[in-house]
Amino acid sequence: MSYRPVMKLVKGKETSDGAGVRLKRSLGTHDLGVHDPFLLLDEFRSDRRDDYIAGFPDHPHRGFETVTYMLAGRMEHRDHAGHQGILTAGGVQWMTAGRGIIHSEMPKQEDGLMWGFQLWVNLPRDRKMSPPRYQEFPRERIPVVTLEDGGSIRVIAGSARGVAGAVTGIATNPLYLDVTLPAGGRFEEAIPVAHNAMIYVFEGEGEFGGSSEHSGVTASEGSLLVLGEGGIASAEAPSVPVRFLLLAAEPIGEPVARYGPFVMNTREEIVQAVNELNEGTFLGPA
Ligand code: MN
Repeated sequence: MSYRPVMKLVKGKETSDGAGVRLKRSLGTHDLGVHDPFLLLDEFRSDRRDDYIAGFPDHPHRGFETVTYMLAGRMEHRDHAGHQGILTAGGVQWMTAGRGIIHSEMPKQEDGLMWGFQLWVNLPRDRKMSPPRYQEFPRERIPVVTLEDGGSIRVIAGSARGVAGAVTGIATNPLYLDVTLPAGGRFEEAIPVAHNAMIYVFEGEGEFGGSSEHSGVTASEGSLLVLGEGGIASAEAPSVPVRFLLLAAEPIGEPVARYGPFVMNTREEIVQAVNELNEGTFLGPA
């Protein structure tokens, strides 16, 4: 089986969103708008209260999924239907917004490190207006695969080494792995050939997309690597430990119309979402 080469490397850009949360955005920017079905990838990481305390007050979503994975800190979410909970370190929330939710995502801490990711995954046309669905798992319910050389894989969605992840039943059959390699470690995982794949490096430095014949592309924390076609995603840590997300999913191949928190197929559907929000009918009949 062939290896998936690195086609593009982009460095995350400092930005802010919500009520003023500092972020590093690597997907959903001018440099890289979309990697079907992935629409956005943000990393938030700060131990400065002012960088995160304002949080993400009430805002809508329609037509896609938001995935929040926490490494440190506490984030409370609360939606219009009374669904609420607190995400803690190592936990994940996979929210299928579908036809629409209005929610807030607010830090549940006054100081200390807040660190995690938000990924946006598109929905195909026939699922965009489906009922909202939440899947939430604390750290201890996410399977961990231990590698021979001391590395580990946290299997959030999809499967690795035959171990099924916590999140299931998602339209695009995603793979979401959090991989840690010690210095000298190597990782290979076969990914369905039809999937689009990417890697986000968030600690240390490694080499990606290499094989036994040729070395890979060197990338350090804050780098997003778009992988090309092939079978196997590979990574190595030649000199220092590295930690990264490996993300893959079936591309949808439909037109994308996006405006802020709405991701639909056509401009008309976006206008409709905005109108419904303004008229108070966004959430449908009570
Ligand atoms: Mn949100």
